[in-house]
Amino acid sequence: MTSFKLLLLPGDGIGPEVTAEARRIVDWFTAQGIARFETEEDLVGGSAYDAHGEAVSDATMDTAQAADAVLFGAVGGPKWDGVAYDKRPEAGLLRLRKDLGLFANLRPAICYPALADASSLKRDVVEGLDILIVRELTGGVYFGEPKEITDLGNNQKRAVDTQVYDTYEIERIARVAFELARTRRNAVASAEKRNVMKTGVLWHEVVTRIHDEAYPDVALEHVLADNCAMQLVRRPKQFDVIVTDNLFGDVLSDIAAMLTGSLGMLPSASLGAPDEKTGRRKALYEPVHGSAPDIAGQGKANPIAMIASFAMALRYSFGLGEWADRLEGAIATALDQGLRTGDIMQDGMREISTSDMGAAILKNLQDAD
Ligand code: ATP
Ligand code: MG
Repeated sequence: MTSFKLLLLPGDGIGPEVTAEARRIVDWFTAQGIARFETEEDLVGGSAYDAHGEAVSDATMDTAQAADAVLFGAVGGPKWDGVAYDKRPEAGLLRLRKDLGLFANLRPAICYPALADASSLKRDVVEGLDILIVRELTGGVYFGEPKEITDLGNNQKRAVDTQVYDTYEIERIARVAFELARTRRNAVASAEKRNVMKTGVLWHEVVTRIHDEAYPDVALEHVLADNCAMQLVRRPKQFDVIVTDNLFGDVLSDIAAMLTGSLGMLPSASLGAPDEKTGRRKALYEPVHGSAPDIAGQGKANPIAMIASFAMALRYSFGLGEWADRLEGAIATALDQGLRTGDIMQDGMREISTSDMGAAILKNLQDAD
């Protein structure tokens, strides 16, 4: 039986509540002998700051470096509003991303049939939707220099942000997108704005070359980012994988999120470069939602985003894609059974707690086995 090191970082707010439900499922996989998950749990964010004055400790970073995957809950909350900038809870997540070299952010937008009416769009536009946005996460306008505001006098200031992309950064994100497409419906749409941006020109050139050299079997389409946004709300099912830069990815993935309903449903993965020896990529999996301090500690949080994040880990880190499908199937079944947490509540459905939802999903997984 293959064994994997899994680091759980529950964090703050509803993080620990939803992580506990994912852990129940992790432990079930081990108990069944499907794979052996050697789990370790550690502090991150505000809880880590309270314990040792840093949002993530060096010791935790060492454990994360040695792990096959990290399952991350959520960090932050009003309690830490006054904390110094570099010690704030969010700094923990940023350090993990940076030190693990997680340059590829994967955000699936899946519309579960039972929730198609909760979408911002009409049922027939989103029913059966299954797209994957691959966002470049460590470059672009978020980090480019110069980045400054200059005082010009006469009540005038000038603000400058700089978008920078090097060939290698585009190459590696393009490879991730093409490889993922091969495990899906074999199509990539690359979104940029080469009509007004030099980074868009280079993006287009590099993605095309990587495609022609190494992935000619994958269908590649180039789409201007603004048109992509429009197509996402007009006819989203035309897409399989969308690959794009850091800024456009931020916007496009939020649009895609609203196609599927609640924040409590959305998983994500962040991947690094493949290891030279094993080929395995460093990876961190986390729900898209934050720590939701307004509902923390009340058993109201929806654990589905967190459980679906573990499903992504099964697929992308542990080579257990079939089990990922089954776990997602167990989530869909719970929704079909009319089970709802408060955030996805609909008329005629039954509101249940975080742990009841976790238990129902596990039961569906067992029953389908
Ligand atoms: P952050 O700055 O950490 O991203 P945010 O301001 O985006 O936080 P979130 O904590 O992500 O806010 O969530 C916004 C609101 O959505 C929460 O206050 C909560 O009411 C609701 N929410 C988020 N996640 C969930 C969940 N898993 N289950 C139920 N409700 C949720
Ligand atoms: Mg947020």
